[in-house]
Amino acid sequence: MFNKVLIANRGEIALRIQRACREMGVRSVAVHSTADADAMHVRLADESICIGPPPASESYLNQVAILTAAIISNAEAIHPGYGFLSENADFAAMVEDHGITFIGPTAEHIRLMGDKVAAKQACKAAGIPVVPGSDGPIADEDEAARIAAEVGYPVLVKAAAGGGGRGMKVVRAANELASAMATARAEATAAFGNGELYLEKYLAQPRHIEVQVLADNHGNVVHLGERDCSLQRRHQKVLEEAPSPALGPRTRARIGRLAAQAVARIGYRSAGTFEFLYEDGEFYFIEMNTRLQVEHPVTEMICGLDLVREMLRIAAGAPLGFGQQDIRLSGHAIECRINAENPETFVPCAGRIAEYHAPGGLGVRVDSALYAGYRIPPYYDSMIAKLIVYGPDRNVCLMRLRRALDEYVISGVDTTIPLHRKLLQAPPFIDGDYTIHWLEEFVRGED
Ligand code: ADP
Repeated sequence: MFNKVLIANRGEIALRIQRACREMGVRSVAVHSTADADAMHVRLADESICIGPPPASESYLNQVAILTAAIISNAEAIHPGYGFLSENADFAAMVEDHGITFIGPTAEHIRLMGDKVAAKQACKAAGIPVVPGSDGPIADEDEAARIAAEVGYPVLVKAAAGGGGRGMKVVRAANELASAMATARAEATAAFGNGELYLEKYLAQPRHIEVQVLADNHGNVVHLGERDCSLQRRHQKVLEEAPSPALGPRTRARIGRLAAQAVARIGYRSAGTFEFLYEDGEFYFIEMNTRLQVEHPVTEMICGLDLVREMLRIAAGAPLGFGQQDIRLSGHAIECRINAENPETFVPCAGRIAEYHAPGGLGVRVDSALYAGYRIPPYYDSMIAKLIVYGPDRNVCLMRLRRALDEYVISGVDTTIPLHRKLLQAPPFIDGDYTIHWLEEFVRGED
């Protein structure tokens, strides 16, 4: 095992990784911008190094500063967390070129999955069901019209270099195709400098269901079931649960097996997530995330594994200490992402935390770097805490989550706790009967 790991992140996830390191007897090095000098992840680390001024582009995305920090602190490995440099293949390659272990997949796998068309082709070849549509980039409007007619309208025109929903257009009928392609191409060229488009069948009422996998360097692969992340606003996940209320044990086993087989065929290692849309009993791959995800705790709660610990062990060359037959999923877990935002307008709200009291008790976990007196800097993501609750079944989990939300005190800034409280009273959520569009309608007061 490593003696020392540098954590190239901030906030709750930096703390999360630090906790795993400490439990494994591994020393941790925190990096921080000047805006984060008083942050919890800095206070609790064994060592810390300032890597630049507040803007992320000059600190948490500053590859040379981070690598230098690892070298001068004698860190043997870097854990990138999520966001920032976690899916940057060049960074992973540079780290490895300097004899430091990147705690994650290989640079080649990060690069492959970062190209949406190549990722879809690779996953399809490895037996993963994908959304019907063009097999690669579309050459021209004639080809697009032919494929659209084949898969049936509505269709979705997407940018090969896409991200954040940009360069994406729904096309309801053949006579809208040409203008939608022109708009999508212009948007994609402006946003990514690459106007390449591909085409997919548009799914009207899907759920977002993702499968967690773990693979080591010795050919061992397991899947850890799914997370339902359908509750989204502007393509941002708001609340996640595991298992999905929409899947039965056979469907779960089927998609898990397919994901694990694909990982073995692709030769992927470390933690990873296959994201699917799920509609009418069918799965459709949309992308693979080659990193630890924000919502990983719901999986940890139902399978009893520490995913960060497993990532460290895999990166250090150890084989997985269990096989698929040893994985037992039990109970139910829900995560609420708590943002420092107005719960109605969603305008981010930086400022000083006046009072802070986190909920506790059986089955309650809070992943957060907040403390009373902490000043939330205005430069970074507005997520300030994750409240994760476990129960032996979904009903107990819901009761416990309501109780925990009522206990949570964060004053001095606006938070989205009131939104979560409201959500937990909404019949479609209580019944588990929701799709990726439901939360937007609920927030607009249409439900
Ligand atoms: P991006 O990388 O730009 O976020 P994704 O492919 O991950 O693009 O899709 C973003 C979101 O767009 C999905 O979470 C889903 O809500 C919607 N979406 C993507 N593909 C489809 C599809 N074929 N049908 C319906 N909705 C889709």
